[in-house]
Amino acid sequence: MSTLYLHIPFCKRICTYCDFYKVGAVELLPRVVEAMHEELEARRNYLSDRRLSSIYFGGGTPSLLAPEQVEHFIAHARQLFDCSEVGEITLEANPDDLTAEYVARLRDTSINRLSLGIQSFDDRVLRFMNRRHSALEAVEAVERLRRAGYDNLSIDVIFGVGGFGDDHLRESLERAITLDVEHISAYHLTVEERTRLGLMVRKGEYTPVGEECSEREYALVEEMLGGAGYEHYEVSNYAKRGRRAQHNSAYWAGVEYLGIGAGAHSFSGDDRTWCISTAKEYAQRDFRFESEQLSTTDHLNEYVMTSLRRIEGIDLRHIEERFGAAQRSRVVASAKSWIEGGVLRLEGESLAIPTSQFMLSDAVIEALFV
Ligand code: SF4
Repeated sequence: MSTLYLHIPFCKRICTYCDFYKVGAVELLPRVVEAMHEELEARRNYLSDRRLSSIYFGGGTPSLLAPEQVEHFIAHARQLFDCSEVGEITLEANPDDLTAEYVARLRDTSINRLSLGIQSFDDRVLRFMNRRHSALEAVEAVERLRRAGYDNLSIDVIFGVGGFGDDHLRESLERAITLDVEHISAYHLTVEERTRLGLMVRKGEYTPVGEECSEREYALVEEMLGGAGYEHYEVSNYAKRGRRAQHNSAYWAGVEYLGIGAGAHSFSGDDRTWCISTAKEYAQRDFRFESEQLSTTDHLNEYVMTSLRRIEGIDLRHIEERFGAAQRSRVVASAKSWIEGGVLRLEGESLAIPTSQFMLSDAVIEALFV
């Protein structure tokens, strides 16, 4: 099985912390959409397995698409691929795009899951992040989707935001839990150099939180979401039973995916390809790509990284079968001190990071890389 990703790289307003490829020139959207259909047609043979298990509209801001444009993409995918087993079709959405009229029209599409970039239920934090919506609009968007019958909702929450204390996070998590959404992605705010937040740090207008605050807030997220019945199944993701994100889970499991749009990435098993055209070039059908062939070492490192980010962890049998006994021994030897320190757990053939230690996952992953 494979997955399809459609990238809508437009944002009406740029968030303080955002380092993704996106542009504000929303007037290009209609031409970019037409060009995306052309790219989809042209690259239909990129996937060796043409059966799709999920479709994901990401961005940027995919909710800038009219629902009819969303459905047109899905219909086009159905013409080109075997979609008989597609389970999840997700649209990322900004809460303020989800008006009553938009949601009513969306109900006529095949979208069955929405991922809302809420980030916080505190208006002060939302203003600091330069988000377009208010806390009230976020709550209303979720309630509106529920009334319309959507039963698979995900929201993003950011922690580790300096200058607001821990209470805003506690209240945001309480709100998220009360809304009883099926899935929550919780990310630590990171400062990327080429963002407004990076500039604020350089000018002394923002001080990133220290390690102690990061750990405390991480523990708070873990305690509150765990206590509310969410399974912490990946470093940044929590889900109610049976509600893990299928599309992202497929990505972490190393399945093939085709990414369409300016800035989108694709993976065919051995090759990784990404579109380097700007939105303007893309609108003019100037599709340019870069790609790399993955070596055996790349595959092993990728397996280590995606596995250790999930609660299932590394399957040592898989390492031995695919990469050889020497690599299995190397991984076990590199893991020894982390196991002794309680940061890794070895149970049978499974080597995993306990959720309480997920904050250290980057360091562990690097230590286990070839
Ligand atoms: S809406 Fe998303 S992609 Fe757009 S600027 Fe904000 S964080 Fe970045």
